[in-house]
Amino acid sequence: MLERIIGRYTGQEKGPLLICLGGMHGNEPAGVEAIEIMLKLLEVEPLTNTHFRFKGRLVGIRGNLQALEAGSRYIEGDLNRKLTPENVARVFAANVNDLTAEDLEIFELLSAVNKEVEDYKPERLIFLDIHTTTAFGGIFSIATDEPESIHLAVELHAPVITGMLKGIRGTTLHWFNDKNFKPKTTTVVFEAGQHTETLSVNRAIAAITNLLRTIGCVRAQDVENRHDKLLIEYSKGLPKVANLISTHRINPGDDFQMEPEFKNFQEVKQGELLAMDKQGAIHAPEDGLILMPLYQKQGEDGFFLIRPVQY
Ligand SMILES: [Zn+2]
Repeated sequence: MLERIIGRYTGQEKGPLLICLGGMHGNEPAGVEAIEIMLKLLEVEPLTNTHFRFKGRLVGIRGNLQALEAGSRYIEGDLNRKLTPENVARVFAANVNDLTAEDLEIFELLSAVNKEVEDYKPERLIFLDIHTTTAFGGIFSIATDEPESIHLAVELHAPVITGMLKGIRGTTLHWFNDKNFKPKTTTVVFEAGQHTETLSVNRAIAAITNLLRTIGCVRAQDVENRHDKLLIEYSKGLPKVANLISTHRINPGDDFQMEPEFKNFQEVKQGELLAMDKQGAIHAPEDGLILMPLYQKQGEDGFFLIRPVQY
């Protein structure tokens, strides 16, 4: 049986609470692995660097336990599309015995998060939600439209995608904010690469490290610049900030089939054939860069189109 809590690391000084979520999708174990390694690295860091100081607390939490055990994206429905106010209210009002697989995950996950916040009582609360994609090519982070979220995302040193909140509903970016938590709360999503690439774990570790520095948990002199380098190298030639321009939503029974070999950030032209479903061909509605083309059976979004913006 997997535990909900991956682990905790508490610094000598009071500071921000960073909650890292891994495995919101059960077929994306890289985030969990990265958090496990990060917590171990923090434990041994003071042994080799006696000047090491940590301000705040890092908590690692598993997102969808049942899906992680099954190795699938979800059991009954996408946990990272179900965090809507109505749905969360319904789950918390229901009898626990009546909850379906993902309802139970919502209940346990949010209860665990609330307990951590209650326990540490931080002034500043930050969530990093780590994912991987079915497609290859390009790491990126996803920010809300708040300046603070965009700032944290930019400092991860990967391309930042904005405008995603209006393309989809019920994600961690929609739930973990000031509306639902008392401390000042900011959330960033990091997409670490393809599901099975070993480097995805390294990139997720680098993202956590960069974030710990940006929010002031660790000092810049205690952070090795190989973390920056890894992400900067991998983001070479990709836009610094890009905005969502279009989403292709999949309905049950659509028989959605992405055309082969599209990569994240690949340029597509208006009218270009992108996918097929039972209605026929699906063409790019406008010029843009493709993001998260879906190459797995489970998923409600076929692909996203983005366009670079000035930052
Ligand atoms: Zn995911």
